Amino acid sequence: MLSARAALERLQEGNRRFVANVQGADSLQHDNRRAELPMSQEPFAIVLGCSDARVPAEIVFDQGLGDLFVIRVAGNIVAPSQVGSVEFAAERFGTRLVVVLGHSQCGAILATLEQLRRPTENQSRNLRSIVDRVRPSVESLLTTDLRHDTAALVKQAVRANIRTAVDHLRHGSQLLEQLTVDDGLLVVGAEYSLETGVVEFLDGVPAAV
Ligand SMILES: [Zn+2]
Repeated sequence: MLSARAALERLQEGNRRFVANVQGADSLQHDNRRAELPMSQEPFAIVLGCSDARVPAEIVFDQGLGDLFVIRVAGNIVAPSQVGSVEFAAERFGTRLVVVLGHSQCGAILATLEQLRRPTENQSRNLRSIVDRVRPSVESLLTTDLRHDTAALVKQAVRANIRTAVDHLRHGSQLLEQLTVDDGLLVVGAEYSLETGVVEFLDGVPAAV
């Protein structure tokens, strides 16, 4: 299995290909590994991303079948089933890199900001469960000067939400914490730009592993 650092480099290279519009030999579109995969999988990275139709992890990282273990949920929030999915892949497949992939103009973040500014009573309980997960990380931003600058507010709120998810995965699971200490697991945050196609890895990525 690839180390977390090697996996991170592979994702960065894949995203550079995506941005340059060059597909690698293993990209989803050219994949010829289907026949090898029914019996096993060895994903080199786990990606917790947003359900947004514009941010499919395999495509923005130019990876193919069997490469990524992807969990997608609106707002890339972390609830128990997401933690369980990450634990499953990290333990079962030995995958050592976990990426929380948020993105610019995330609808879940916009909906949460909207709800905080103009609360409505008739929101579905299920939808509210997503907003409630996003709310704590963005609520405090509304008490700062950012509230006068919507674009900057949304940008910071997206990042705050990614950091909260990273923190939750790093410290909300005994299993993941143990794998981090003993076995080289790395949980990092990243933001995909809808405008440029570039994935920027956020601070917290060690210079060398
Ligand atoms: Zn989103």
